[in-house]
Amino acid sequence: MKGAPPALLILGVAGGALLLLAAAGGGSPATGARRVGGFVHGQIGRFFSWAELTASGAAARLGIDNTPTPEARRAMQALVATVLDPLRAHLGRPVRITSGFRAPPVNRAVSGSPTSQHMSGEAADIKADGMSAEALAAVVVGLGVPFDQVIWYAPERGGHVHVSYTTTRKNRGETLHAPAAGGYVGWRPRRGASASS
Ligand SMILES: [Zn+2]
Repeated sequence: MKGAPPALLILGVAGGALLLLAAAGGGSPATGARRVGGFVHGQIGRFFSWAELTASGAAARLGIDNTPTPEARRAMQALVATVLDPLRAHLGRPVRITSGFRAPPVNRAVSGSPTSQHMSGEAADIKADGMSAEALAAVVVGLGVPFDQVIWYAPERGGHVHVSYTTTRKNRGETLHAPAAGGYVGWRPRRGASASS
C-alpha cells in the first residue's frame, strides 16, 4: 500500500469501540460538498452535482485524480449559479455535462487546449437531448446571463456546447462555432433559432 492513509481523528475510545471521524477535505458547507476518497460529493447548485461536473472517462481510465482545487470549486459554483442553473430552469429538461472540470493531466490526456478554462473550473461542455448544439447555444445566449464563451461544436467534433464563465476578469460574451473542418468561426444565434429544437 503506497501513499499516506486517509487522515483520521481518533475522538476517543468508548466501550472498546474506536470513534473515528474522517478528516474530510475542505468542501463548502453551504453547498454540502464533502470530499471522500478524493471525490467531491453533493450538489453544486440547484440542479447539478459535483460528481457530474468532475466525472471524466479519461481520468478513470488512466487513474488520474480529477479532484478540483478550492479555487476551481469556487469557479464551478459560479458557473453553475450564473449559467447552468438558469439554463436548466429555463429549458425544463436535463442538461447533460459531457466534460466539466479537468485537472491539468486530464486535460492533456483528452488533448484539451493548453489554456482550457476546463482546468480552472470555469468551463463545461453540455448537451440537451433532442436539441441541436446550435439550438442549445442559442438558448444559452438568449438567457441574457453573463458568459465568457459559448461555442457550439459540429457533430463531427462532439456536437456539444462549450460554455464558460469567469470571476477573475470581464466576461467576453464571445460566441463561436467549431465547424467540422476545424478551427473556430464567428457565430451569432439566428433569430428564432432558440425556439426550435
Ligand atoms: Zn469545453
